[in-house]
Amino acid sequence: MSEREYDYIIVGQGVGGTLLSWFLHERKKTHLVIDNDHYQAASKIAAGVINPITGRKYVKSWRIEELLPFARETYQAISKYINEKIYHDKLIYRGLYSIKDENTWETRKADPVAGQFIVDEPSTEEFDDKVNGIFAYGVLKQGMQVQLGKLVVAYRKILENQNAILSEKFDYAQLEITNSGVKYKDVKAAKIIFAEGYQAQFNPYFKHLAFEPAKGDVLIIKVQGRPFDNILRHKVFVCPIDEEHYWVGSGYRWTFDDDAPDEEKGQELRDKLDEILNVPYEVVDHIAGIRPCVKGRRPFLGRHSEYPNLVIFNGLGTKGASLGPYWANHLIQHLEEDTEIDYEVLVS
Ligand SMILES: Cc1cc2nc3c(=O)[nH]c(=O)nc-3n(C[C@H](O)[C@H](O)[C@H](O)COP(=O)(O)OP(=O)(O)OC[C@H]3O[C@@H](n4cnc5c(N)ncnc54)[C@H](O)[C@@H]3O)c2cc1C
Repeated sequence: MSEREYDYIIVGQGVGGTLLSWFLHERKKTHLVIDNDHYQAASKIAAGVINPITGRKYVKSWRIEELLPFARETYQAISKYINEKIYHDKLIYRGLYSIKDENTWETRKADPVAGQFIVDEPSTEEFDDKVNGIFAYGVLKQGMQVQLGKLVVAYRKILENQNAILSEKFDYAQLEITNSGVKYKDVKAAKIIFAEGYQAQFNPYFKHLAFEPAKGDVLIIKVQGRPFDNILRHKVFVCPIDEEHYWVGSGYRWTFDDDAPDEEKGQELRDKLDEILNVPYEVVDHIAGIRPCVKGRRPFLGRHSEYPNLVIFNGLGTKGASLGPYWANHLIQHLEEDTEIDYEVLVS
């Protein structure tokens, strides 16, 4: 069997591995991607919302002012490359439920950093009569919806055409660490980057890291006549996917046996939808995925302490769409230019 030689091997082609491949492609670095094409990978299940203000206290998302413009620029460039637009600018309509909520929202609006993401006097016409149980809306601007599933599927096709992807489960037992890098079966590379999402907890070289995966259930619903175009966050997220389908989700489960959809969680989502939506809908699918969450809620980047040619890119958690571009580029910069990895994301 003839040997093939690359600058890098990437294990995993969710949004993490896809973005690493993209930044290597930009630098003309040769690489082989190995991915088992898991149909329930988080990137294929996610809504891909980039939400600049999150949580019950309406807190600005960590470093969002740096992450957002970089994400937009990156997804724009990749859309051109794959010849498919995979992101859309969206407003996010957030339900406020009391005067207290409204006052807290107004305080955020006055904050010079958080305030830049809040619409001053929003029109709520789009949702009037279609939604129940809202006291007032807080509306966020500069939000985005990135079709992560569409991105990984389209990017995979390009890798296939370039003969740059192996569709198989990576077998850690077959990895050899050599003086010049690594060898996997008949493939040699100077470095290997692991981007396996939550399955990195089974990677013998990095399993000591503080992974804390979180499962989420999602309903895909069909609604006639596309009642709204922007994103609704009211007990659940309701995000448009195409002319007649919406993504509805999603809860968090920290203990679970598998990644199969859970009947009970599906019913909880249906109950919430019945409570909030004032338009007829039909559930056409119930899916589930596992987010690569980690204890400190910051991405994991860096090299193995003993084997520096083994590298990890993980911990995209609930925010792969916004964290992915900036930190994938940050890691490739480190590997190619020896720049320092930011202490907030550096693995130890
Ligand atoms: C229900 C749900 C809703 C979400 N909503 C949002 C959202 O609105 N906005 C947002 O930004 N993020 C959201 N996320 C989070 C987002 O999906 C993740 O942050 C992101 O997709 C993680 O990407 P990843 O590449 O690290 O992992 P993954 O997408 O899991 O990709 C890992 C890939 O590696 C492959 N792999 C793993 N092990 C191996 C192996 N040994 N050999 C070969 N291949 C392997 C897997 O098959 C997979 O293809 C959501 C996630 C879920 C589950």
